[in-house]
Amino acid sequence: MAWTFSGVFLDGFSGERVVAGTGDPEELPGRFALAGLVDAHAHPTVAVDRHGPYLADGEYGAARLAEYAARGVTVIRDTGGRSQVTLGFARTAAAGHPVVTAAGRFLAPANRYFPRMHAPVEPDELAAAIRAEVAAGAAWVKIIGDFPRWGADGPVPQSTAATYDVGTLRQAVDAAHAAGARVAVHSNLPDSRLTALGADSIEHGRALGHSELEALGARGGAWTPTLCAMLANRDSPDPEVRKPVDELRERLRDCLPYAAARGVRVLAGTDVVGTIADEITLLADHGLTAGQAIAAAGSLARDFLGVHPEGDIVTYDDDPLEDPGVLARPAAVVVRGVRVR
Ligand SMILES: [Zn+2]
Repeated sequence: MAWTFSGVFLDGFSGERVVAGTGDPEELPGRFALAGLVDAHAHPTVAVDRHGPYLADGEYGAARLAEYAARGVTVIRDTGGRSQVTLGFARTAAAGHPVVTAAGRFLAPANRYFPRMHAPVEPDELAAAIRAEVAAGAAWVKIIGDFPRWGADGPVPQSTAATYDVGTLRQAVDAAHAAGARVAVHSNLPDSRLTALGADSIEHGRALGHSELEALGARGGAWTPTLCAMLANRDSPDPEVRKPVDELRERLRDCLPYAAARGVRVLAGTDVVGTIADEITLLADHGLTAGQAIAAAGSLARDFLGVHPEGDIVTYDDDPLEDPGVLARPAAVVVRGVRVR
């Protein structure tokens, strides 16, 4: 089927009519269209049980990719997972599944990440581990830049610290760049110096301040604030739980528009929590315009990732620029010419 659409084109499209696929033409339902959505911080092989997150298998990952697609996500950046599976997804995009650009394994030393999610990488092994991952097909590498110490009963409260020293991180970033990959760093501490070391994207970035955002923006770096995850307790009935979340929300309402105005590529990423529609809505609730929030999961993200698939269309009955909540209800989704919804 050749899917056609001739309503209102929003972010990512130019022109008055699009066609995706081949064969007999059929007009898609809906009145507004985007050229697909991008989830820039996704973990298709990470599942969660009562003990926390763990690495799942390829069957689980494939089912997750189908879920992303049904929600209008046509491109994902995998930011860590079961490397053999995610690098396979990146090599060959299945019909109706999003295009995947993948980071391969999580890079963290012993006792500094979820134990079921990684094989530890000590500082003197980091550069070699990065070269191996890129040689296996990783376009990104994912470094856990800081994390709580992992004790016998799980994360130790108030123990968040840098996982690798600055010299090790500098060598790691240089090794990734020399091998042709980019670097995403999980970072939640202030003044991490990651920006100065050349990290390409800061993940979460709970403590990013104005000076770091200026440096990141000056060289076109990205920030994926993963608001669904960072603000997961925003509706808690317990005021003690809500208080730090409310403080973070105030900071974000200042820092997100500041970042966007200084050239930081703010990206939408759901981590393992929520949906892309929720993430875009939260970005728009914390200082970005609806247009900026949609571009964070659209044209801006595709440009930053350098991934531009042909034949992606997601349509809606109502205008997501008026209300991003509309994004939760696509009228139709076409992924590289294949209609999946
Ligand atoms: Zn993550």
